[in-house]
Amino acid sequence: MIIQGIKDEWELVIGLEIHAQLSSNSKLFSSASTSFGEENNEQVSFIDSAMPGMLPVTNEKCVELAVRAGLALDAKINEFSMFDRKNYFYPDSPQGYQISQFFYPIVSDGSIEITTKEGEQKTIVINRIHIEQDAGKSIHDQSPTETFIDLNRVGVPLIEIVTNPDFQDPDEVEQFMKKLRNILRYIDVCDGDLEKGSMRCDANVSVKKKGDNELGTRVEIKNLNSFKNIGKAIMHEANRQIELLEDEQKIIQETRLFDVNLGQTKSMRKKEEANDYRYFPDPDLLPLRISSEYINDIRNNLPELPEDKKKRYIKEYGITEYDSEVLTADKKVAEFFEKIAKKIEPKLAANWICAELFGRLNKVGIEFSDLSISSEDFGSLLQLIASNKISGKIAKEVLDKMFETNEAPEKIVEKYNLSQISNTDEIEKYIDDIISANPKKVEEYRSGKDKLFGFFVGEIMKISKGKANPQSVNEILIKKLQSN
Ligand code: ADP
Ligand code: MG
Repeated sequence: MIIQGIKDEWELVIGLEIHAQLSSNSKLFSSASTSFGEENNEQVSFIDSAMPGMLPVTNEKCVELAVRAGLALDAKINEFSMFDRKNYFYPDSPQGYQISQFFYPIVSDGSIEITTKEGEQKTIVINRIHIEQDAGKSIHDQSPTETFIDLNRVGVPLIEIVTNPDFQDPDEVEQFMKKLRNILRYIDVCDGDLEKGSMRCDANVSVKKKGDNELGTRVEIKNLNSFKNIGKAIMHEANRQIELLEDEQKIIQETRLFDVNLGQTKSMRKKEEANDYRYFPDPDLLPLRISSEYINDIRNNLPELPEDKKKRYIKEYGITEYDSEVLTADKKVAEFFEKIAKKIEPKLAANWICAELFGRLNKVGIEFSDLSISSEDFGSLLQLIASNKISGKIAKEVLDKMFETNEAPEKIVEKYNLSQISNTDEIEKYIDDIISANPKKVEEYRSGKDKLFGFFVGEIMKISKGKANPQSVNEILIKKLQSN
């Protein structure tokens, strides 16, 4: 990430508020659908449009998902929580308030471990997680004179995850966000798609002189929707604040937006205080009372979490910590690996996925989720190596072709005649050809220049187009060079 750092005598303090859309098919308080990309205003019930007399009913699935998130984040699930109204007027929010949880959130005191630049473990505290509804959307770009309203998102279920101001630089933020997203995906609570808006991050940023105990005034940057932008926005904002403070000016507590094109933050509104919202318990909704049986039931049904999976892979498959981290950083990758590791030596599988497969994905700039090579085909490729049908070198070529044509590896090997030559007669012939073509080198080798062995192997590989079985080449070549 190329972003300007901050001056040595200053320190950066960051706290996050992350909104994650819960993977529920229907909304938080109505039965309207939450599916993405439908026609405007096609998914709006009378409750969502706030018709008089309509009563919201809490979607139990959303409560369950919030509890799952809390458990996976090592948090406390509160047996009592409540919904509150956060009052404000917005044209795309017909109720005139947002239903959220202010006084009693459903989850408190969670955490995620990250690794600092210095290589130390650091705990980021999650202060609270509460359930709330999303607002609608105002559309400004369809007409020069009018604004349109789309209410499809009104009432879409979210959890808001609020951290303590524990971060010191954007890399820590990025690590945390990736871990959080990974965990939420593992437990099927949120699809974690930043581009589609199913995960959004607000970053609170302040600066202070190194060693100061007191925190500076913070500025909130809203709706950051890519990892790259989060880092850029934070650093830009920190430098803006430092410039102001060095100029003896004050930081105003406010909400700012990040302009991706300008690479700058700009003021959106002065920060409201909680009392501006006149929060009060929503009289239409009952408090949530969650029994310990309910919590335990969910706990017992949680799938294996990324950290646990990582430890298991190291133990069970004997792969390196680094490879294990890479393989478990995405649930889909882990599934891909495990399918293959059932049939192929796991270390070989880990190696080839982490180095060769990811190397190629990075090079062409596609995500693993868009990979069209199946685990069966990738497994077959490794099978060809393991059974000595092709060498590792040839396998890399085959993998390149698999990326291009999507054909099965066996087919590619056959089509381009890439099978390894293990027939000793054939190999002997290659060796004889090279020996008789290089009498001088043979003499030098025989008079003690051992290093030339590599030269012969290289030549043989060249004329066999890399297909000669290296082990047989070594064995036969040694014998031939030593005889006479
Ligand atoms: P509010 O309810 O007014 O939004 P919170 O105390 O809930 O305030 O804090 C909101 C977010 O701001 C949290 O993520 C918290 O970590 C972060 N935060 C609080 N103080 C600071 C600060 N001085 N610098 C950076 N972030 C901060
Ligand atoms: Mg807040």
